[in-house]
Amino acid sequence: MNKKKGIVITSTIITTIILIVICFIVFNISPYDLYGGDRCPKCKSTNVGTFFYGEYDPEFEDSITLAKVEEGVLIPGGCVIDDDSPKYRCNDCSFMWGKY
Ligand SMILES: [Zn+2]
Repeated sequence: MNKKKGIVITSTIITTIILIVICFIVFNISPYDLYGGDRCPKCKSTNVGTFFYGEYDPEFEDSITLAKVEEGVLIPGGCVIDDDSPKYRCNDCSFMWGKY
């Protein structure tokens, strides 16, 4: 590999990294948002619950939903979704991440 080719490859990699960082800042996403809901990005626990938003009334929910809420699989997140509403919560370390 000649020197010129090496410089081109290096600058391409640097440009790509800069673009990714800009995307994270502009779209306000944290690297944790890239994680799915099957594993906690902090403690690696698989005991992860998913938030759900909208009306939740324990008196009128069906038994499946109630059981999932009690197990921590589903977490009532309230009626309103805003930009900071998390999607997942770790039931072991309480870390919250993800976006709706
Ligand atoms: Zn955790």
